[in-house]
Amino acid sequence: MFLEPAFKSQRSGWIEVICGSMFSGKTEELIRRLKRARFANQKVQIFKPSKDTRYDERQVVSHDDNALLSTPVQHSSQILILPEDIQVVGIDEVQFFDLEIIKNVQKLCDRGIRVIIAGLDMDFRGEPFGPMPGLLAIAEYITKVHAICPHCGNLATHSYRISEEEDTIVLGEKDKYEPRCRACFGMGKILTFS
Ligand code: ZN
Repeated sequence: MFLEPAFKSQRSGWIEVICGSMFSGKTEELIRRLKRARFANQKVQIFKPSKDTRYDERQVVSHDDNALLSTPVQHSSQILILPEDIQVVGIDEVQFFDLEIIKNVQKLCDRGIRVIIAGLDMDFRGEPFGPMPGLLAIAEYITKVHAICPHCGNLATHSYRISEEEDTIVLGEKDKYEPRCRACFGMGKILTFS
């Protein structure tokens, strides 16, 4: 389990990335860390890309209804608009942001802010997703979480798209995706439950 470093003695902020496939518990882990920060009386701000409209517009919502309020933003530069006293920034579904988010989270660190980011590391083709490779490169701490492959029970790293759509961004949940291990992901359509 991730334990926070001794933030009291640090003058600059740092970046934590929580990555993995769909249904791996990324958002739950993000919420866990943000709630711990709140219990420690730290001022927390949460963002998500406004593209992600699967649930309530204003919430970071995970699959178990363990939700925190968030601010939807269209461009990553908007995360720089913050009250002075914010100490921790959480960002969910970060793979949907523009590439400038890599610079912008570092600007937050320069202000002494702890930045916790959660997102998909790979798209449905198994390719690195949007700004995630860059964010993983600049992060101080990386946590890769895994789902369970429903076909073989191994750890799942990939998000297999069950539906036929070809766009990189297709919002959906269990109706459109399932987590798979590398081997089952490679088998593609041969594996179905029907
Ligand atoms: Zn498998």
